[in-house]
This record gives sequence, C-alpha cells and structure tokens, in this order.
Amino acid sequence: MATTIYHDEDADLSVLKGSTVAVVGYGNQGRSQALNLRDSGVAVIVGNIRDQAHEAAMADDFEVFPIAEACRQADVVMLLIPDEVMPQVYEEKVAPDLSVGNLLCFASGYNVAFELIEPAPDLDVVLVAPRMIGVGVRDAYVAGRGFPSFVGVHQDATGKAKARMLALCRGIGSTRGGCIEMSMNDEASLDLFTEQGFGPAWGRVLMSAVELLVEAGYPPEAVLVELYLSGELAYSLEKIREVGMFRQMDFHSQTSQYGSITRGARYLDLDVPLKEKMGAVLEEIRSGKFAEEWSGQQAQAREIFDQIRKVRDQMPMAGWERAARRGFRIGDAGD
Ligand code: NDP
Repeated sequence: MATTIYHDEDADLSVLKGSTVAVVGYGNQGRSQALNLRDSGVAVIVGNIRDQAHEAAMADDFEVFPIAEACRQADVVMLLIPDEVMPQVYEEKVAPDLSVGNLLCFASGYNVAFELIEPAPDLDVVLVAPRMIGVGVRDAYVAGRGFPSFVGVHQDATGKAKARMLALCRGIGSTRGGCIEMSMNDEASLDLFTEQGFGPAWGRVLMSAVELLVEAGYPPEAVLVELYLSGELAYSLEKIREVGMFRQMDFHSQTSQYGSITRGARYLDLDVPLKEKMGAVLEEIRSGKFAEEWSGQQAQAREIFDQIRKVRDQMPMAGWERAARRGFRIGDAGD
C-alpha cells in the first residue's frame, strides 16, 4: 500500500485567508490547536459552554461564543470535545448552524468511522488527528518542532477539502513533522488497537515481572525502580524512537545485549497466542462490535469507572507504587 506523508511544502496556509476557524472545545487539544492556529496567522474564535474552559479561552484573549453561535460565524469548525459527548453536541449545537461548504474537522475518526455522526453531504469533512497529547502540540509548536498527525479527506463537497485540511495541519504545526494520509476508519482502528491490543498486553508483561520478582522476595520498591520508576525504561523508549529498536541496543552493556538476545528467543512461542488474542481484539474493533458495546454502556459509564477505581486502588501494586514513589520522592505519591 502506497503511503503519502505531507510536509510544510505541501501545505499552503493562505488557503485559509478570509476564513474564520471555530475551535469547539477548549481542553487538551482545543487550547493548543487554537493558540497554534492563531500564532500561524489564522482567524480563530472559540465555541464553548460557559464554564472553566470558557474562562481559560477568555484569559488567552480569544473571542468565546456559545457553541451554536461560533459554528454560525465559522467557515471551518474543529470539533475538539470528548468523543463520548460529541454525537449529542453535534446534533444539537453544531449541525443546525453549519452552512453549505463549511469544513468540519475531527481530531479522531471514531464517531464518523462508527457512524455515530453522519455529516451532511454538502460539507467538507476531514481528519486531523495529532499523534501527540494536547500540551505536546503546543510545546512542539513553540519550540519549532513538528509532530506527526493522521490526516485524510472523508468528504469533499467543495473541491477544496484537501487544501484546507493541509492548511490546518500547517497552522497547528504538524506538517513540520509529517502528516500521514489515512481514512477515519483506519485512524480509529489503529488508535483503539493501541489502547486495547497493545497497551494491556504490554501492561500484563510488566505486571507479571513485578509479581514474579516480589514473590521471589525482592523489595517491591526496588523492583519498581528496577523495572520503570528510575526512568531508564522511558529513556530506552526515547532512544528507540530516535535510532530504532535494534540500534538502541548499542547503548546497553555487552552483558545486557548477550543476555537479552539469547534469553529473548525463549519467548518466541508466545507469538502465536499473543497474535491470536490481539487479532480477536482487532476484529471486534474493525467490525464495530466494540463501538456498539461502548455506546450501550454510556448510561452506566460513571458507575463502571467508580468500580474500576475502587478495584484498582486495592491492588497490591498500587500500594507498592505509593511506597516506592514516596521513598524515592517521585512526584506526588497520591495518598
Ligand atoms: P478534552 O476532554 O480536553 O475536552 C474538553 C473540552 O470539551 C472542554 O472545552 C470542555 O468544556 C468541553 N466539553 C466537555 N463536555 C462537553 C459537553 N457535554 N458539551 C460541550 N462541551 C463539552 O478533549 P481532548 O482535547 O482530549 O479531545 C478532543 C478531541 O481530540 C477528541 O476527538 C480526541 O479523541 C482527540 N484527540 C485527543 C488527544 C489527547 O491527547 N487528548 C490526542 C489526539 C486526538 P468544559 O471543560 O468547559 O466543560
């Protein structure tokens, strides 16, 4: 499959000249993207309900309007509110105030991919999904660095959707890094798979190692520092990003390299069951089964998360982490 990655030279900011961009939601992504676009010379207004984020946007000298009013004034609407509330907000406060030829930009493909939002056919609809947390989007822009995004045109009513999408990418500072083209479906599936297929499997490996070492009699504080609290793991991950998985091995001692390569072979037989389980997770995501299940749980979401927090806080590892973080004076020990 051919891959297209866009950079600054592919994007013309002047396409947005004379356009008003409404950033709806002033949270993690909203604030950073609004500030970056404004610093890039784009006319930005903010749409928000009257609460904390509203105050924050006013403090940053933006004109802030109720969401429907902001959408009415805008040529481009960037929906930067939580995915869970987006379908209802879209139906009630965004869709009725959009005009023919407006551009609607999503930072996540989820709601469109799983048909929870179906924009009118006379709109341009695009994806600009940063692979970066909100604060990182702003920090990278201020430091003159780029960051990757997944981008794509889902609907092109005006013939200008792609040019406008790339201008937004440039305005938020993402084409300095690179914007890879993909569909809403692929973006949503990759995102969910990382959360459901990779994250929990990696977490299980980490917890198995912690449990084994504590059961073998090593102090939990030492185990956690050895495995990740020292920051060495985070440092290695950064090196993997910089030079690649294999070349980063050169930063480790020969004892480490010899041991990890020879013993690493013993885990090869985990490959088949792991891929089977991951494959099942991916299938549930791609078929829409996960999205359907999660939509059905929305009414109970608060109780579910209360329950999860209760169970989580009682796990031995939570106590070990508190003790280790207190002992080594790392951040706030959380008690
Ligand atoms: P946030 O949770 O930070 O959004 C908060 C904003 O949404 C605030 O302005 C908040 O207003 C507003 N909001 C919350 N509930 C409602 C509601 N019921 N009605 C109207 N406004 C509401 O969102 P993120 O920035 O994390 O995510 C925005 C989008 O970006 C999502 O599509 C997400 O998938 C995507 N994304 C997020 C990333 C991240 O790192 N967080 C990374 C890449 C993409 P107030 O606080 O004033 O109530």
